[in-house]
Amino acid sequence: MGFANRFWKLMGSTQGRDTSRAQSAVEASHGFDEWAGGMADDEFADAAHGLQLFGGSAEDLARFLALAREAATRRVGLRPFDVQLQGAMRMFAGDVVEMATGEGKTLSGAIAAAGYALQGHTVHIISINDYLAHRDAGWMGPMLELLGLSVGHVTESSSRRERRAAYSCDVVYGSVSEIGFDVLREQLVTDPADLIAPTTDVALVDEADSVLVDEALVPLVLAGSTSGEAPTGEVLAAVRKLRPGRHYEVDSDRRNVFLTEDGARAIETELDIADLYDTEHVGTTLVQVNVALHACFLLRRDVDYIVRDGRIQLINASRGRVAELQRWPDGLQAAVEAKEGVAVSEAGEILDSLTVQAFIGRYDKVCGMTGTALAAGAQLREFYGLGVSQIDSNAPCVRVDEADRAYVDADSKTRALVEHIAAVHATGQPVLVGTHDVAESEELAARLSAKGVGFAVLNAKNDEEEAAIIAEAGDVGHVTVSTQMAGRGTDIRLGGSDEARHVEVVELGGLHVVGTGRHRTERLDNQLRGRAGRQGDPGSSVFFASMEDDVVVSALEAEKIPAAHDKISGEINGNRGRDAVDHAQRVTEGEMLQIHANTWRYSRLLAEQRDILADRRSVLLRTEKAFEELTSHDAERSARLVETHGRGAVVRGCREIMLWHLDRGWARHLETMNDVRESIHLRALGRENPLDEFHRIAIDHFRDLAADAVRESESTFDAIEFTDTGVDLEANAMARPTSTWTYMVHDNPMAAGGNVFSGMMSTFR
Ligand code: ADP
Ligand code: MG
Repeated sequence: MGFANRFWKLMGSTQGRDTSRAQSAVEASHGFDEWAGGMADDEFADAAHGLQLFGGSAEDLARFLALAREAATRRVGLRPFDVQLQGAMRMFAGDVVEMATGEGKTLSGAIAAAGYALQGHTVHIISINDYLAHRDAGWMGPMLELLGLSVGHVTESSSRRERRAAYSCDVVYGSVSEIGFDVLREQLVTDPADLIAPTTDVALVDEADSVLVDEALVPLVLAGSTSGEAPTGEVLAAVRKLRPGRHYEVDSDRRNVFLTEDGARAIETELDIADLYDTEHVGTTLVQVNVALHACFLLRRDVDYIVRDGRIQLINASRGRVAELQRWPDGLQAAVEAKEGVAVSEAGEILDSLTVQAFIGRYDKVCGMTGTALAAGAQLREFYGLGVSQIDSNAPCVRVDEADRAYVDADSKTRALVEHIAAVHATGQPVLVGTHDVAESEELAARLSAKGVGFAVLNAKNDEEEAAIIAEAGDVGHVTVSTQMAGRGTDIRLGGSDEARHVEVVELGGLHVVGTGRHRTERLDNQLRGRAGRQGDPGSSVFFASMEDDVVVSALEAEKIPAAHDKISGEINGNRGRDAVDHAQRVTEGEMLQIHANTWRYSRLLAEQRDILADRRSVLLRTEKAFEELTSHDAERSARLVETHGRGAVVRGCREIMLWHLDRGWARHLETMNDVRESIHLRALGRENPLDEFHRIAIDHFRDLAADAVRESESTFDAIEFTDTGVDLEANAMARPTSTWTYMVHDNPMAAGGNVFSGMMSTFR
């Protein structure tokens, strides 16, 4: 947390002033409680819409808060605490607020959204999954409706019609992927009547640090059917014969794998080629070899993916859960499928793509809420220009965070962990165990079973089922083992969801949270701890760490890792183990920030180009611009066509022609830039810095894209046959993709700083 802390010390004064302004507005609102309380249901809408909230009088703000409090009381059955209204005020002012788990952010966010919507804005409340989007829309909807606002939500199962209806509402609940995919899918539309029109007005992001920081560089991808660049069976077979150390090396942090000299020779022999690094092979065989190395030696079954129902399912690293509908870039997906011997799924061509960060960047205004915002303050400011406000908790937090227990190796850590869970469980106190990945959950589950401890495991299969399980995690005698994001957003009440045994659990000390290892950032540790001690409940947390944990091994040199330990338990006495983990975590946090900044430098330009392209596309789609342009290219032909087929048909045909070429151009551009990014360090050798070089190429290509699309459209216009309904592109080998699908690439290996790419760079060092 070091960086963020220092940062906030510098910024502290502003935050203090803003917080006190929010506080006084909330205090003033109580003066209008009688006014709001006396209002009939059908008077709320008019009263609320008559208020001037932006730059308006303090009185209007106070009246708004009083109305919202009354509306929540009547329709949600919850009377907002002052701190919840303060949080709403800060979000309304455009901040990300930090409010602890269980403080009632759902209600705060809905009130902030109401403020924006009453001023004429459309607000997207962005949640982390479909289950929560659905839950929150149903939960908060009645309050928003009482205030005269319309509310909708989108989930994966929403139809096109339902989506269009949802996006026309004042407040829309949806997950980042669902709304993002809708934005991408708009690029497939060729008839304006098919648009579903998600707006880009206000985004209010729940679990803001997860979405805006942890997932920022995850690309949302729209793909269509064509063939991919997967390694051939021959390449895969050759790579599988390689031996670690001798033929290839894996970085300690498992980000890169690269061939040694010996490895390259072995591949050359196997494939019977003279020189793997010859220009003939660099863009083809070598790419395939690197993809295969990645698939075979970096991606681990049950850690990075699982094999289920004959399919590869990715495990989202930051959430430690199965990521439905996600796949790796084509070649890699096919390589892993081949490695595991499952049917190779169809490869696709990327038609459009957008990182989460670029997606959020499209909104005019962004604000958000999370239990851990301050620690992400530096990134939120640097990448989104967002401020952070910390809101006091309603009741003081009395959770006891115990000191870490550090062990010399993974084995002694696990032994101690299991002992500890069993011992706490024996008292009846509920235990929530947070693991890093599915494999770890399963190993722990096996050990707990062996010890006769009963437990529930959440491996992120079904958000709704998980929510129901985690809701009971605070009941007497429950042990719940869960990966990072599983069940997030669901309240853990002491004594079970009905709080039947609340008193008993309070006497037992509340919920006890156990971390099986420190995360790569302290912020994630704190998210886990925050599951205990909600709303002033008793609770405790403790983390176990070992000197073999990823975070330690990848960040610290061997000689900096303490080795002296108790010979029987393996425990490292004193503070040295703990200090080492703290240090490793700070190093890792710094590295991650750098990777983020660096990768963003590459993606930002493409995001800007995408905006320009989307604008151009929108004009072609919604106006007669294409008709005008092609008419000005050949007025005579145009007039003849209009005479024969009618104006409507020609307008439609021209639009389809120009959209087709523009879309092709963009897909090609993305492909080119992906290739460039993979080889940029080669091209840039001895010249400019790679980023400048990348930018130069991207700008050149993009300029050509626009001109080429026009030229190609003109020649299509000259040659293609028009009918009374327009043109038949398919008959002219200009088919649109027959099937399209969307996915998110977690842990994108193609990203700069990522695996295949750097693996390839290393090969050339
Ligand atoms: P968070 O998102 O901050 O973790 P939630 O919005 O999920 O919190 O709410 C946590 C719990 O607090 C829910 O069970 C909710 O019913 C309860 N809650 C929220 N606001 C209030 C309130 N004003 N009074 C009483 N309970 C509340
Ligand atoms: Mg929440």
